[in-house]
Amino acid sequence: MSASFVLATRNAGKILELRAILADALRELDAELVGVDTFPHVADVVETGVTFEENATLKAVTVARATGLPALADDSGLAVDVLGGAPGAFSARWSGRYGDDEANLCLLLDQLADVPDQHRGAAFVCCAALALPDGRTLARHGRLEGALTRRPRGGNGFGYDPILAVAGRRETAAELDPGEKNAISHRGIAFRALAEAMPGFLRA
Ligand code: IMP
Repeated sequence: MSASFVLATRNAGKILELRAILADALRELDAELVGVDTFPHVADVVETGVTFEENATLKAVTVARATGLPALADDSGLAVDVLGGAPGAFSARWSGRYGDDEANLCLLLDQLADVPDQHRGAAFVCCAALALPDGRTLARHGRLEGALTRRPRGGNGFGYDPILAVAGRRETAAELDPGEKNAISHRGIAFRALAEAMPGFLRA
């Protein structure tokens, strides 16, 4: 291998998922993807941005600067139409407790209890970002459209998966097989778009 890309995550599952999504691009670039844990001196990045793109870019730029290697990062969440795109970048801490998935989705369902079905549109949104050590950045977005249910359904996935009924399907994201969800997910779409643009961007 002649090059490494660092993925700004400590989540081993995410590294495996992205190695699969980026396999063709990594082969073309003769590169491998390693997690940020490979570099113990790199501290966690505080997500001070208010949009997915700001947070994804912030994470990628920080890791590229700290490691001297090209870095990839993503930021994602749920965007609800009637809430103007909220919880958005605040999805993981909507109830006030970071990472409390059940509290986050219960609060959201309570807030929208009186909203009729035709106004319950929502989407999972992801921004995938690449940053180079020289400071250049590239970002791409992906969405998984759907509508909010009234009660959680399904045992797969995480976060708001049990309350997003996927557009054009009967199931919520938590009722899909993981492979099925990955094939249509906001993260997959964003990283496949980034992978497509990467070779040209790196040559420029
Ligand atoms: P992250 O930036 O990918 O860590 O996601 C931030 C938060 O957005 C998570 O804690 C979840 O609440 C929500 N989220 C992001 N992607 C998904 C998804 O695919 N399903 C359900 N919830 C998600």
